[in-house]
Amino acid sequence: MIARFVELLGFMALGTLWGWYESSIFLVFLGALAGGLTWLSLDSWRFQKVLIWMKRADWTNEPAVPHVWGFLVEKVRRLQKHLQGKAKDSQGRLDEFLSAIQASPNGVLLLDSEGRIEWSNQTAAEHLGIDPQRDLLQHVTNLIRDPAFSSYLNNGEFHNEVSIGGVGASASKPVIISIRIHPYGKRRKLLLSRDVTAVQQAEAMRRDFVANVSHEIRTPLTVLSGFVETLQTLPLNEEERAKYLSLMGQQAERMQTLVSDLLTLSKLEGSPTPNRQSLVLASELINRCVEEARGLSEVLSGGRHTLVVDLPVDVQLAGSGSELASALGNLLSNAVRYTPAGGKITTGLRQMPDGDVRIWVADTGAGIAPEHIPRLTERFYRVDRSRSRETGGTGLGLAIVKHVVQRHGGQVQVESRLGEGSVFTLQLPADRVRPLRPEPRKVPAKR
Ligand code: ADP
Repeated sequence: MIARFVELLGFMALGTLWGWYESSIFLVFLGALAGGLTWLSLDSWRFQKVLIWMKRADWTNEPAVPHVWGFLVEKVRRLQKHLQGKAKDSQGRLDEFLSAIQASPNGVLLLDSEGRIEWSNQTAAEHLGIDPQRDLLQHVTNLIRDPAFSSYLNNGEFHNEVSIGGVGASASKPVIISIRIHPYGKRRKLLLSRDVTAVQQAEAMRRDFVANVSHEIRTPLTVLSGFVETLQTLPLNEEERAKYLSLMGQQAERMQTLVSDLLTLSKLEGSPTPNRQSLVLASELINRCVEEARGLSEVLSGGRHTLVVDLPVDVQLAGSGSELASALGNLLSNAVRYTPAGGKITTGLRQMPDGDVRIWVADTGAGIAPEHIPRLTERFYRVDRSRSRETGGTGLGLAIVKHVVQRHGGQVQVESRLGEGSVFTLQLPADRVRPLRPEPRKVPAKR
C-alpha cells in the first residue's frame, strides 16, 4: 500500500515540478492533478490486466504487475494451485470409487430425479442391454421395456425386488435379472441388478427334487400301509399272509434302494474330487462288475443274457475304486434290466491315441429314442417307467454315473437306436490313466 502511495506522490511531484518549472502556481496545481490522474490510469490499467487474467482463467500466463496487484496475482495463483490439487485428489478418489463399483459383480445404475441414466457400470450395462456411454441421459424405461419393471418403477414400492428377462434370454436358455431400486438424495435413484438365473434354477431343481423324492417314497409307503391294514383287519390264511409279506418286503427293498442311491448322490456332491494316488486295475474293476451283472441276470431272467468282456489292453485308473465300480455297476445293471432275455451285453475297454480311456457297455436291448438321450442323466428321468419300477430302478442310476465320471474329469456318452440296443461309454482323461507297469526310467549311458 505504501509503495502505491509513494508512486502516486511521485507522479504528482513530477506534475508539480513541471508547473514550478513553468513558474506558474496554476500549472503547479494542474501538474499535480495531471500526475495524480496519470497514476490513476496506470493503476486502473494494472487492475484491468489482473481482471482479464482472472476472467480468462489462464493461470499459466500471469500478468507482470507491481505492488498490491502483484501480491493479489500471487495469492490468486496460489489459491488456484491449492484448489487444483484438491480437485485432482477428489477426482482421483472418485475414479477409484467408480472403478471399485465397476469391479462389482452386481450391476449399478444411477438415475436422476427424472429417471434418466446418469451413470452405469459395465455389469448393469450387460444385465440390462444398455450402452453406458450412448444411453447416458436416456430415460430408463425407454431402455428397459419389461412391463414388470415399468410398474415397479411407477409403484414406488422399492422394498421388494423385481425380476425381468435378461439380454439374450430364450426359452431354452433363460436369463433372469433381479432389480432393486434404492431412492436417495432429491428423488434420485440407485438401481442394483443381479443375475439370479443360477440361483432360481437351483431353487427350481431343489423343489423338483423334493417333489420327486416325496413321490418316489410315497408310492411304496402307500402300498406298504395298505398291506399292513389288510394284515391287521382281514382273517388271512398262511399262504395269503406269506404272499402279502413278500410284497411288503419288495416295497421295503425299493425304499431302501432309493435311500441308498440318494445317499450315494449326496456323498458324491459333498466330497472332494477323488485323489490320483489310489490306483484301480481296470480289468479287475470290469470283471467284478460283470460278475455282479451275471448275478442280476440270474435273478431277472434265469441267466439268459450273454455277458462278454472285451479287454484287448489293461491299464490302471487313478481315482476312487468304489465310485468307478458304482458307475460301471449302474451301466451294467441297466443293460441287464433293459435287455430282454437272450440278449447280449458286451463290456470293453479301449485306450485312445490321445491317452484317454473308454470303458463301454453295449447291449442289444430296447434302445432309447433320440429325444430322450440328452435328459437321461437327470435325476428321476425315466424313459421306460414301468420297466424301471418292475426291475427295481430308482431313476438315479445314470445321475450317479454322470457325477462319478465328472468327478474324475471325464464324461458319459450315449449312443442308442430304438429296438437295436445302446452303448454307454465312460470316457476318462489321460491324466487319470497309468500304464500297467511304470515305464523303466532311462539311465544315461556310461561313457
Ligand atoms: P433307472 O433306475 O430307472 O434305470 P437310470 O438313471 O439308471 O434309472 O436310467 C434312466 C432311464 O434311462 C431308465 O429309466 C431307462 O428308461 C433308460 N435306460 C438306461 N439304460 C438303458 C439301456 N441300457 N437301455 C435302454 N434304456 C435305458
